[in-house]
Amino acid sequence: MNKMEYMEAAEESLLHTYNRFPLVLDHGEGVYLYDTDGREYLDFAAGIAVQAFGYHHREYTECIREQAEKLLHTSNLYYNVPVIRAAARLCAASGMDRVFFTNSGAEAIEGAVKAAKKYAYTRDGHAGHEIIAMKHSFHGRTIGALSVTGNPHYQEPFAPLMPGVSFAEYNDLESVKALVNENTCAVLLETVQGEGGIYPATQTFLSGVRQLCDEKDILLILDEIQCGVGRTGEMFAWQHYGVKPDIMACAKALGCGVPVGAFVMTEKVAERSLAPGDHGTTYGGNPFAGAAVDKVLELMEREHITDHVKEIAPYLEEKLDGLIAAHDFLTERRGIGLMQGVVSKKPVAQIAAKALEEGLIVITAGSDVLRFVPPLIIEKKHVDEMAGKLDAVLKKMP
Ligand SMILES: *Cc1c(COP(=O)(O)O)cnc(C)c1O
Repeated sequence: MNKMEYMEAAEESLLHTYNRFPLVLDHGEGVYLYDTDGREYLDFAAGIAVQAFGYHHREYTECIREQAEKLLHTSNLYYNVPVIRAAARLCAASGMDRVFFTNSGAEAIEGAVKAAKKYAYTRDGHAGHEIIAMKHSFHGRTIGALSVTGNPHYQEPFAPLMPGVSFAEYNDLESVKALVNENTCAVLLETVQGEGGIYPATQTFLSGVRQLCDEKDILLILDEIQCGVGRTGEMFAWQHYGVKPDIMACAKALGCGVPVGAFVMTEKVAERSLAPGDHGTTYGGNPFAGAAVDKVLELMEREHITDHVKEIAPYLEEKLDGLIAAHDFLTERRGIGLMQGVVSKKPVAQIAAKALEEGLIVITAGSDVLRFVPPLIIEKKHVDEMAGKLDAVLKKMP
């Protein structure tokens, strides 16, 4: 079939929940993707911040191939070796204590919320606890995750959602304080807001929320699903701030393409939180996903990925700032490490669509932000190629 036929077939049988770019992707190599017509694309989206090692990383691919031949799934009724290794690595990388593996980011958020509610339930001897989340946040599409996602547009058709959630202004400590009451069990936020438009937390805000939580025995849940696992130049974005969460949610790059997420907590939370019977999953943390996570975390450490991000990110920032200087409709850059956003007064969806014609994949965030979340293995030459292609697109923007 040719590209048009594939696209028609897709629209006949897939539920239309995405307005997809007209691209049928076939395979990838390094930081390049190839479509079914053999066209090459430089990928600065990484499958939405997932493919930290790009495509067809030899050692990673070999690892999951071997595991597929050995054992894919066992259920959580038994132990398996890859998940034991993966959990130990995740604890070591975060300095946190206990991991529950899920299949997605939304499920990691669900688990984090349940863990916080159970912690408060054990402490207080009753249920009825509430959560403070942030406006313009994104935590996923399941009903629980949607309930803490501060975007009325996503929520509206699905009301009533989970009750007991209120929304504060991101980076405004007073607005969080104003929402605290005796039932508050957790404050949930993205260390760097992703979908909302690439907004890093300010140091004052994150430190302030941490202090507030400590004073009131409220749990701090950090959503590191997009900004975690090396992307910002630390394994977890909160490590830039010297602020540690009580619970964190991970996914996206954690499996580098194998669907897996996790929520991770400190021993203090674990002791009073989810116990046998409280939570479960059939697939979560199966040997296949476990092997992927184990290998991803091993490679990140061995290949000093965070050092590489710290080295290459300033170059990306410099090139993006150059584009902003050259095009007056680009107004601002925000971000940390290889999670960058550029604000545009011209429609970003159109820029992203035109970029494809130049052989460049970029995505958007919020309504007016171009988002750059490339594979973490990019080199200067890829940044140069991206900047050249994007400059050509921007010059042609009406
Ligand atoms: C992608 C994302 C999620 C949801 O993850 P899924 O795997 O799509 O369920 C949650 N939070 C943040 C910050 C994300 O970027």
